[in-house]
Amino acid sequence: VMELRGLKKSFGKLDVLKGIDLSVPPGDVLALIGPSGSGKSTLIRCMNMLEVPTGGTLTFRGQPVARRFRDQAGSIGMGKLRRHVGMVFQHFNLFPHMTVLDNITRGPRVVLGESRASAEEHALELLAQVGLADKRGAYPAHLSGGQKQRVAIARALAMRPDMLLLDEVTSALDPELVGEVLAVIRKLADGGMTMVLVTHEMGFAAEVANRVIFMEGGVIAEEGSPEGILRNPKSERLRGFLSRFH
Ligand code: ATP
Ligand code: MG
Repeated sequence: VMELRGLKKSFGKLDVLKGIDLSVPPGDVLALIGPSGSGKSTLIRCMNMLEVPTGGTLTFRGQPVARRFRDQAGSIGMGKLRRHVGMVFQHFNLFPHMTVLDNITRGPRVVLGESRASAEEHALELLAQVGLADKRGAYPAHLSGGQKQRVAIARALAMRPDMLLLDEVTSALDPELVGEVLAVIRKLADGGMTMVLVTHEMGFAAEVANRVIFMEGGVIAEEGSPEGILRNPKSERLRGFLSRFH
């Protein structure tokens, strides 16, 4: 679905991504791991143009992504890219003044022009899928962190994305709430959803991802199967990084 070639991102003089080559085929579940500051969030944000790359190319469904909102002949704009590539953040970012149902139906209604009835029907299916059918009328303030994060995932899915980007979606949660969110992600992976996830949960990465990428200093330092990367790391640096999790 997505391809990155020589992707770079600098903030002023700081070169954060130094040329990333990466293909994400349909159904791929890719885990990004690496030390703090290695560029994981910047990379995943570039994948839906929340950060605009300063070099290289991003291709989505075979078409180059333009550095402008609207589509152009031969390329797709950031607007369409974001509709097709959903993102879930560490801190939920739900609209606090809206019910769960309104949070989920807003995008489909406003951006995709779906009717209220059809958006709500889809939202209720998604709420059932994330185990929150009874929370449709609740406000975010009355939900636990794990419930909020599951609503955020349902909201991203409501846009019927081709691909989902998840940046440390369990890091802000109390440990006892992590499992319910991971279970939802595992179900999505089993259902064939294409996902790129940044995670510090190595066990989870090993379980759901079919590919793991170790980033360091703005480059892909090592890439391979979960077994290869997590159980048989080649470089000393990856071994050092992983040893912090045992
Ligand atoms: P963590 O594991 O702590 O989340 P990360 O791998 O996600 O780290 P990034 O957030 O991508 O790292 O940041 C990589 C580098 O880019 C850091 O040095 C950070 O300070 C810098 N950076 C990120 N966003 C910006 C920005 N908007 N402006 C300036 N510098 C930034
Ligand atoms: Mg980050």
